[in-house]
Amino acid sequence: MILKTRPHLTQNEPLLFESSSPGKKGYQLPPLDVPAVDPKTVLGAEHVRDEIEGFPEVSEVETIRHFTRLSTWNYAIDLGLYPLGSCTMKYNPRVNELVARTEALAWAHPYQPESLSQGAMEIMAELERCLAEITGMDAVTLQPAAGAHGEMTGIMLIRSLLEKRGDARKKILIPDSAHGTNPATAHMCGYAVQNIPSNARGLVDVELLEKAMDETVAGLMITNPNTLGVFEENIVEITKIVHAKGGLVYMDGANMNALVGIARPGDFGVDVMHLNLHKTFSTPHGGGGPGSGAVAVKKHLEPFLPYPRMKREGDQWAFNYDLPESIGKVRAFYGNFGVLVRALAYIMAHGGDGLRRATMDAVLNANYIRKMLEPYYDLPYKAPSMHECVFSDDRQAKKGVRTGDIAKRLIDYGFHPYTVSFPLIVHGALMIEPTETEGKREIDLFVEALISIAEEVDEDPQLVLGAPYLTRTSRVDEVTAARKPIVRWRPQAAVGKAAD
Ligand SMILES: *Cc1c(COP(=O)(O)O)cnc(C)c1O
Repeated sequence: MILKTRPHLTQNEPLLFESSSPGKKGYQLPPLDVPAVDPKTVLGAEHVRDEIEGFPEVSEVETIRHFTRLSTWNYAIDLGLYPLGSCTMKYNPRVNELVARTEALAWAHPYQPESLSQGAMEIMAELERCLAEITGMDAVTLQPAAGAHGEMTGIMLIRSLLEKRGDARKKILIPDSAHGTNPATAHMCGYAVQNIPSNARGLVDVELLEKAMDETVAGLMITNPNTLGVFEENIVEITKIVHAKGGLVYMDGANMNALVGIARPGDFGVDVMHLNLHKTFSTPHGGGGPGSGAVAVKKHLEPFLPYPRMKREGDQWAFNYDLPESIGKVRAFYGNFGVLVRALAYIMAHGGDGLRRATMDAVLNANYIRKMLEPYYDLPYKAPSMHECVFSDDRQAKKGVRTGDIAKRLIDYGFHPYTVSFPLIVHGALMIEPTETEGKREIDLFVEALISIAEEVDEDPQLVLGAPYLTRTSRVDEVTAARKPIVRWRPQAAVGKAAD
């Protein structure tokens, strides 16, 4: 049993406004030794405020402590394992940051003339080349800003090709193990979605796919490895079935952390895919910051890629807008450049062998966790894991403890929760992805925590149901928080006025 209080780390920090007391200042200066000037006479009275309503008056140390304490409220990859499945929350080497913040790159402006952007363009061209090699595809666009945006771009490419052939078709087939963004994407691009159930091993049911595939189907959107962390071992046959009826295969490549350096989607029949550079290729993510959903295609889709494309003119790079079949721009300028720089830095720092090692370590770590936890948690799909493993809360549910409760208890043990209740085909899912950046010590701590929680569930389920105990706030009323969020602070005075 762990301590129920960690007073200093967990005290409830008031709003800075609530610490205010009149006359307190964050600085002290010696008395003026020059004549005082009234700011109103210098700046004009209309530019000077007598008072800022509700402005906090606090000392320097109060200010520093306030923000430092707030910074400890958040879990971060710099604190420990971040096992969110499907998110690939790997540690991002600091050298990537160093490179991305190089002045010439950080201050590059998208309106700079091409002649002054040659270095930035070289970086993008080199990254496109690396990603094409890693995926086994022919061409890459770096424009899409996130994975879901890459999906949309990819399906628009499929639609353009089919339209050119004379029929955009009606449906996209999507396995039930897909990420939720896949059906959303197909729908956004004007397609109906038809679900393909998985078989008992968590793989696409090939017979059902064969039945569903006809000339009204534009293509298949498949995640590989899928969201169960299982490699679709029939992928070659699957792509052949889709191609035989004139459809195209889109691969959601968000799980490429399990394949880089080992297997190439281009080699197993994929026509178009996206990569989450912010997941697989190391950019801090998860807070809604910039990402990159680079899209890689085979030759037959290249003419439709978003413009501008880069082309070589003599010994210079130039942007080519003269692409009559292009779907046009999907984003202002050329993509989230800083993320692209980090991705290339990561790829170059690892090299081909290093990338392959990272993949092998990611898969090893996931399988280690799976083996260690299998005696304690139900594992509904038994096929070998790739980069993540998915348990269900079936055993704990018998004691009334669900995946969300276990996740909250995990916070008391000092870990960020795993992904809760996803993928949907696993009832009460615990989806765990350690990534390659975790060492054995950290993984063992995590495994011990989950084993300890499983034991707590057996001995005292109420204890787990009350967690977390060590956070400032314990269980919140999630429904009220979602329905009536208080997202803005207002000075007490203003609150009073509003009430009037
Ligand atoms: C993360 C993820 C996405 C969506 O990527 P975003 O960058 O969040 O838009 C799509 N599919 C899978 C399998 C993912 O894990």
